[in-house]
Amino acid sequence: MRLAAHIKIKDRHILNLAKLVSGPRSILYKKTDLAAYDCDGFTIEKYLPRAVVFPQNTEEVAAVVKYCSENDLPFLARGAGTGLSGGAIPINGEVIISLTRMKRLLNVDLENRMAVVEPGFVNLKLTHAIADQEYYYAPDPSSQYCCTIGGNVAENAGGAHCLKYGVTTNHILGLEVVLPNGDVIEIGKKGIPDAPGYDLLGLLTGSEGTLGIVTKITVRILKNPESKQTVLAYFDRVEDGSQAVSEIISAGIVPAALEMMDKIAIEGVEAAAFPVGHPRDIEALLLIEVDGIHAGIEEQINQILEVCRNRNVREVRAAKNEGERERWWANRKTGFGAMGAISHDYLVQDGVIPRSKLPEVLSKINEISQESGLRIANIFHAGDGNLHPLVLFDSRVPGETEKAIEAGSACLKVCADAGGTITGEHGVGIEKKEEMRFVFTDEEIMAQTAIRKVFNHDNLLNAGKLFPTPGKCAEIKQELTKA
Ligand SMILES: Cc1cc2nc3c(=O)[nH]c(=O)nc-3n(C[C@H](O)[C@H](O)[C@H](O)COP(=O)(O)OP(=O)(O)OC[C@H]3O[C@@H](n4cnc5c(N)ncnc54)[C@H](O)[C@@H]3O)c2cc1C
Repeated sequence: MRLAAHIKIKDRHILNLAKLVSGPRSILYKKTDLAAYDCDGFTIEKYLPRAVVFPQNTEEVAAVVKYCSENDLPFLARGAGTGLSGGAIPINGEVIISLTRMKRLLNVDLENRMAVVEPGFVNLKLTHAIADQEYYYAPDPSSQYCCTIGGNVAENAGGAHCLKYGVTTNHILGLEVVLPNGDVIEIGKKGIPDAPGYDLLGLLTGSEGTLGIVTKITVRILKNPESKQTVLAYFDRVEDGSQAVSEIISAGIVPAALEMMDKIAIEGVEAAAFPVGHPRDIEALLLIEVDGIHAGIEEQINQILEVCRNRNVREVRAAKNEGERERWWANRKTGFGAMGAISHDYLVQDGVIPRSKLPEVLSKINEISQESGLRIANIFHAGDGNLHPLVLFDSRVPGETEKAIEAGSACLKVCADAGGTITGEHGVGIEKKEEMRFVFTDEEIMAQTAIRKVFNHDNLLNAGKLFPTPGKCAEIKQELTKA
């Protein structure tokens, strides 16, 4: 883009970057425009970027990256900015490389069950684009109507249906990546099992935008299941709901999705955009979906109904029709945003625990809520033990934001102590980097920062994310400062 001659810009880098990206308004540099990019879905910390560029293709991404690298300018990639751990926040005044103009579906290959997309392609649009042929893209984060597949790769995003089908990494077959020096590489051998060399595809997926910028993605697509059915169950006691979760799985059923919401979460979704009339006085609800060949579905549904009845369910039934099934899911998928209907602010956490520890962990989260004086709602992918405690607070009240951060961290400690971990799908970003110490030793953190250094030698790409700030150990301190 050529900036008009009359525009006076003191920063020569802005002028140079503008020449590397084509199209109208392909660079933002005014404070008022940059303000929209000062945070992502983690709104607690905000920093202005130096500029935001909107490349249209891999060559433009590579040119911008090369320029930043040669001129010592920190930079980072951004998709839709829905990340919940602050991965796209420009904490070092980065140049943001927005991938939202690279949003084409490049190829659909039904024969080999693959599709190729640009990184800014929105997740749900892929399923919409292939629905006519009865195919779909399985990873379904609740933000799928707006988050990008590039962002999903960076965060290794999960979703309600990942219990049976796996998370993003299980659906990525190949990537084109711009390395932090501007070189472009292709990784993954498009579905060939056990390809020679290191598994760079596995390494890049979930690396939170710290190793390279993904510019093309080959994904696996799946044939629609012949049949699916969803059951809704209301429980008066969380313990009964939790036991039902374990018993469904140990009965040998692998539901496509097994979701749980507690009382406060139900209050939120019923006050938000898609209420469905859940009772407000129950302690927990389960949403259980099974899919597969038609013949097996009814038997699985009967087994699920029986497990729930044996666990003192107040009410349990299968959806009457597709419309009802969709309404139940729309209600569930608004879960996080719905907290806005009952609280001025909320902080989403993302711990993982062994399924069997659900009742114990939930009761500890309840204690944290009482000690902090903040309400904590729980929405979770119960089938795979991925909890989302939502700490409700009011940032206008002095001290409450800090209290919420402390309570969120305490929830993650409880998960780690229960044999789980600090993130299941939202990533570490800036939000949970200190909590990495709950689950990794100094040596384990060092091994990981050493990998980052191989790719991101000068640490200009998305620095200060994912790993804790240097700690007591002098050796680590030295390594982390270099990495
Ligand atoms: C209401 C709501 C519900 C959500 N539900 C879920 C859920 O169910 N499951 C789940 O997993 N997540 C969920 N999320 C979190 C978020 O949507 C995901 O992490 C998503 O993958 C982020 O995609 P994005 O395009 O918004 O990425 P961004 O937020 O723009 O970026 C996220 C990270 O990826 C990096 N990045 C982005 N694009 C690229 C690229 N092309 N190359 C390299 N790095 C890149 C960024 O630098 C940043 O570190 C939810 C968020 C919201 C707001």
